[in-house]
Amino acid sequence: MYNQFLTGTDIVYHYFSKVFPEPKISERSIITTDNHTKCLICRQIRKRGIIIQKKSDLSRIFSSSFNDTHQIYFKPDVPYYFVCHKCYFLLKAKNNKIALNNWFSSYKKTIVTPNEVLAFHSSKNEPKAGEKIYKQDKFIDFILEPPEPPFVIYVFEKKQYGPMFWKARVSWSKDLFYIQFYENEICIDRPFLLSLLNEGVDIVLKYKKYLNYFSLFVNDISATTLTRKVREDNMQKELEDVLLHFKQKIPQEYMYLFSESSTISFYDYFQTKLTKKKEEALNVF
Ligand SMILES: [Zn+2]
Repeated sequence: MYNQFLTGTDIVYHYFSKVFPEPKISERSIITTDNHTKCLICRQIRKRGIIIQKKSDLSRIFSSSFNDTHQIYFKPDVPYYFVCHKCYFLLKAKNNKIALNNWFSSYKKTIVTPNEVLAFHSSKNEPKAGEKIYKQDKFIDFILEPPEPPFVIYVFEKKQYGPMFWKARVSWSKDLFYIQFYENEICIDRPFLLSLLNEGVDIVLKYKKYLNYFSLFVNDISATTLTRKVREDNMQKELEDVLLHFKQKIPQEYMYLFSESSTISFYDYFQTKLTKKKEEALNVF
């Protein structure tokens, strides 16, 4: 049984501390339950960790690959700051055989459970920390069928190299879970997402002369319905109604996922479903 208050840091630490031995924390370490010892990074109150005196100490300890210092709240007028042993272990530069903070920048899409790491990469990578490596386009399969909870999922963009796990919310359900998507947290209602994709397939099947994945999930309505073909066939009103009705159901944050086809390939999933349904429809007659 896992503690319900687990953070993204806890999950990732649980895995990596089994793979690599924890480094010794120097004499600067403290043991306390004082409220001032809330960790600067994971925001948890922990008993073990290190003291740092000033903001600039963070980049010294974590190296330049930790570039999220601007997201950390440094309370003014406190005698010192505290970084817990878990964040220290995970983020410290070169504290293991591999520098973990560099490891975190190797994969732009990662799913971590306490017992395994699923990493997604465009080219063949040798596993460094026992991670299971999949092709980028397999990520969608794990979004539609996530691992057993608890888990954290995070995605980051190229220009950002900082580890993301400490921002990621822990998911406790395969049907309602979170993706830390760049700087946004997206809550996925899986049954709803699946029904939305299915409904989209049915609509495209019915109106395949006019509509496709992009007109349903990405483009705005006017861009879709004002094509010449639609006007010629006098279908504008009907399609507008269909699209309006469908698009109203899509949460704004999902639009973000659907348009990022290079990150999570909903398009490929959609096309596969569509082809399958087309074949099934042909077989009926
Ligand atoms: Zn921490």
